[in-house]
Amino acid sequence: MTENSVPVLSVQNLRVSFDTQDGTVHAVDGVSFDAYAGETICIVGESGSGKSVMASSIMRLNNSSTATTEGRILVKGLDVLSASEEEVRGIRGSEVAMIFQDPMSALNPYFTVGKQIAEAYVVHHPGASKHEIHDVVLAMMIKVGIPSPEKRIDEYPHQFSGGMRQRIVIAIALINNPKILIADEPTTALDVTVQAQILDLMMSLQKEFGMTIILITHDLGVVAEVAQDVIVMYAGHIVEQSHVDALFHAPTHPYSWGLLGSVASYGDNKRGGLLTISGSPPSLISLPVGCSFHPRCAHSKGEGSVCMTDSPSLRSVGSDGSRSACHLADDVLVSVGRRGFRS
Ligand code: SF4
Repeated sequence: MTENSVPVLSVQNLRVSFDTQDGTVHAVDGVSFDAYAGETICIVGESGSGKSVMASSIMRLNNSSTATTEGRILVKGLDVLSASEEEVRGIRGSEVAMIFQDPMSALNPYFTVGKQIAEAYVVHHPGASKHEIHDVVLAMMIKVGIPSPEKRIDEYPHQFSGGMRQRIVIAIALINNPKILIADEPTTALDVTVQAQILDLMMSLQKEFGMTIILITHDLGVVAEVAQDVIVMYAGHIVEQSHVDALFHAPTHPYSWGLLGSVASYGDNKRGGLLTISGSPPSLISLPVGCSFHPRCAHSKGEGSVCMTDSPSLRSVGSDGSRSACHLADDVLVSVGRRGFRS
């Protein structure tokens, strides 16, 4: 978090709900955060915690006939949620780009990869000559590490491996030099060795382009490797936002504590055995009263306590800029001793 600069992305009190036959699903409920130039923010949480819905909202990709979206999402001063379709098209790709888990579903099997990269470029460069487009596409294919790009520019997606397809998707995302890249589980569908290559590629391109990366991942090993800031989501809320070192060494929310309990040591070996989070995430149609994590929380003070009656708001705790949505965050900090995962 860079206090004195202007954020490239500001998400303010974002709420996204979906009407279903069973009731209204509150997928994202009051999420706020800022992202700064060149920063990597990782967003973690179980399935259904609201990570992907939140990310899609930044690109205004939620289905407007089923989703109700409130709040503000500012990109370069433009509120994405209230802007016209034309204004949003103007920033998609050029200011914010997104890549998804499955590269095959992001590519059209009927067009060559060269054509698909070129199409993304032409949207923001309508006057570009054929020669210029060809050169730009070829240069981008080289940047993302496609071997023999002069030959492969005319090949179709099915002729590429999973890792190479994800490189093509990254080329499409970055062809207009966006300031923000949102990556939703971009390596989950790939082999472990290919995952590492794609992550390395994203990080080196981030250095070259100076872009901000919002990375959604369930892989805490990846978080430890690439994040500066980490946002932990649970049941549509941010329950913790911390610098990566602070999160791994002294999480301020019992849910973060549970998530981290199952990963290998980060910096020291004080974590002991495997911790698991008992129970399941709550229904997003009817969240528990009070803290939505209380049915699963080992720290909950139980019947009649503030945990059961009041929904905790996200607030600063400790001295390193961490924010936590736990009434007892200061006690949690004492219990982890500010130095290791478990004292
Ligand atoms: Fe647990 Fe209470 Fe904190 Fe919720 S507010 S995470 S129930 S200790």
